Amino acid sequence: MYAEVVVDIPSESAKGLFHYSIPADLQGQVKVGSAVLVPFGPREITGYVVGFTETPDVAHVKDIRALRGDTALSDQMMALATWIKEYYTCSLGEAIAQMFPASVRRGRARVKTESLVELAISQDEAKTLIASMERRAPRQSQALKIILEKGPVMPRRRLNKAPGSTPGAVRALIQKGILNEMQREVLRSPIKKIPRTRRPVPVLTPEQETAVTTIVDSLDQAWPKPFLLHGVTASGKTEVYMRVIEAVLARGKSAIVLVPEISLTPQMTREFCERFGRDVAVLHSKLSPGERYDEWRRAERGDAKIVVGARSAVFAPVRDLGLIVVDEEHENSYKQEESPRYHARDVACERARISKAGCILGSATPSVESYYKALHGEYTLLRLPHRVGMWEMPTVEVIDMREELTKGNRSMFSRSLSEAISDRLARGEQMILFLNRRGYSTFVLCRECGHSMRCPECDVALTYHAAGSNIRCHYCDYEEPVPSVCPNCGGRYIRYFGAGTQKIEGAVNKLFPHARTVRMDTDTTRRKGAHEIIVNKFQRGDYDILIGTQMVAKGLDFPNVTLVGVISADTCLNLPDYKAGERTFQLLTQVAGRAGRGEKGGHVIVQTYSPEHYAIELGKAHDYGGFYKEEVACRGEGLYPPFSRLILVVVSGKSLPVVERYSTALVRTLRRQIGSLRQWKSIKILGPAPCALARVKGMHRWQILLKADPRMKPCDHNKLISDMLKACPSPSYDIMVQVDVDPESML
Ligand SMILES: [Zn+2]
Ligand SMILES: [Zn+2]
Repeated sequence: MYAEVVVDIPSESAKGLFHYSIPADLQGQVKVGSAVLVPFGPREITGYVVGFTETPDVAHVKDIRALRGDTALSDQMMALATWIKEYYTCSLGEAIAQMFPASVRRGRARVKTESLVELAISQDEAKTLIASMERRAPRQSQALKIILEKGPVMPRRRLNKAPGSTPGAVRALIQKGILNEMQREVLRSPIKKIPRTRRPVPVLTPEQETAVTTIVDSLDQAWPKPFLLHGVTASGKTEVYMRVIEAVLARGKSAIVLVPEISLTPQMTREFCERFGRDVAVLHSKLSPGERYDEWRRAERGDAKIVVGARSAVFAPVRDLGLIVVDEEHENSYKQEESPRYHARDVACERARISKAGCILGSATPSVESYYKALHGEYTLLRLPHRVGMWEMPTVEVIDMREELTKGNRSMFSRSLSEAISDRLARGEQMILFLNRRGYSTFVLCRECGHSMRCPECDVALTYHAAGSNIRCHYCDYEEPVPSVCPNCGGRYIRYFGAGTQKIEGAVNKLFPHARTVRMDTDTTRRKGAHEIIVNKFQRGDYDILIGTQMVAKGLDFPNVTLVGVISADTCLNLPDYKAGERTFQLLTQVAGRAGRGEKGGHVIVQTYSPEHYAIELGKAHDYGGFYKEEVACRGEGLYPPFSRLILVVVSGKSLPVVERYSTALVRTLRRQIGSLRQWKSIKILGPAPCALARVKGMHRWQILLKADPRMKPCDHNKLISDMLKACPSPSYDIMVQVDVDPESML
């Protein structure tokens, strides 16, 4: 028998099956789903066994060199990998590779061990020796005495350091055969010792009770439908997850809880560990490779029945999966931005379906796609419309920055916001100032009337490209010159927009020299643990003002925060993206959720040039239902998801003319293919056009956007794309083509 192996190499020619023979010493150990080391061209790389055959397709079949780890993926995981390959149009090797920790893929997985020593002689013999050695070798005698008292087995390191003993003495005892040395595996655990508390579990509200019962009842059905748990901020979604997990554990099954990377705070981990103790394993990108490997293996062996983790934990190798929770399902960090470009929420739903497990998608602001599915019966909708406890939703005040300008205030703080800041400073309360992630200064906005330049066809913000004096739509390539006066009001204050967190911190320090400020953004949190340090210090009251990007809006709980300021809601509203409205609404809701988590209540100030935009008006009113209605109508008009499945093809390369020519050729090929086959008639092609981020690291980027029928089978869109690439191969070595199905961001 020969093994059929796939490899994880992003090249068209490496997409197929490769045959290898199995050496005698690996017979019986190589299984479907095993990771193996194989010779591949001049190198040796990791491949994955996907099947066996009796007839190899090459004359000289090479041997598999070694096994990478002793774990083979289950049939269910192999089925999931096949789905990912089809849906996201990647190779099977790329899909399977996601399911192993990096240390296994790279052959660097090591089990950490420690040395133990054990008495190799009887206790009586030991006692005699202790007495006889007391003079000649007092240290050995002492070491022996210690192990006799505390043993019979103890870590060698501890015996080395015990009073009166020395490493030399212990070594001598081992050499003489008085002590035995052996190795024991030590787990590298990222969870510091958290006591399992006996803190009483909270009493459920009737709403929580209904949600828990409905979900638990469904667990015993053959095909449970995913649940969309729509609960306002602080409505106690986590408690619902935990109660359902208890029911899952009681059935002898396991659970996976996905949370966005940035909200995977020690607070969150702590909550789960306090409730479930050593049943919890944690997986996220800040772990060391060793910790990651050990946590992964604890799940794989069934030692940890609950895995809490970020995106990639959707592939955690738990046994008997009973439930997957996707908390904050609308979060775009669930989307992997490199191949395979999977969305963990959708992979979670598929994995749950394959495993016949339950699935809960939780959010205060569900994505329009998920809410649409819930209203149309694909998911079951559950609601938690009230906050737990007596806390009111914070009041939201929207400041019209156009009026500020008319009244002569050109600074980035409105009068309301600066008054509120000095007021909180005087009272010793804390506040958060919030700015959308990066300062995109690529959109053009009139500061007098708030008018922003948008594409007449696609209704997304036009982006300014430094290369010319034009603004362009990066969906359809519509283009117009940058206006010098506002086309709406004739005003002259028409500007590129955006400011970074650093700039805001500078302005705060200038205005309030005595305020203690701290910044939390990708710059200040790059180092391991930096995020936690800032959070802890802020929580302790070391700072008055936390200034941050979106990561401050997630999951954190600061009871002393009574003011949240959004410096500019427009940076989010004017992202050149059809999801800009949804992102803005989510942002306002999440940010407001940070305020008023204590007795003092909370106040939110939102500064904007477009106070009348529905995302801002309805965000202010905490009205998700109203927002959904407006947003879904817009999506329908523009044929955006959920009314289409978007497939984004990005071509990048060093030479702009080559990128442009190749993109155009791809579109021509696509049109020909679509014209010839009826089932593809419903596809719309936009572009080619420069991407909003038209140049990244010296590479020019162009894009083609396909709007396909959302009911199209994955194998159909997969075939369309691979046929296109076959018919129109890349003209040059440095040209890259990325295919992104359901893109989360189109920058
Ligand atoms: Zn204007
Ligand atoms: Zn357009």
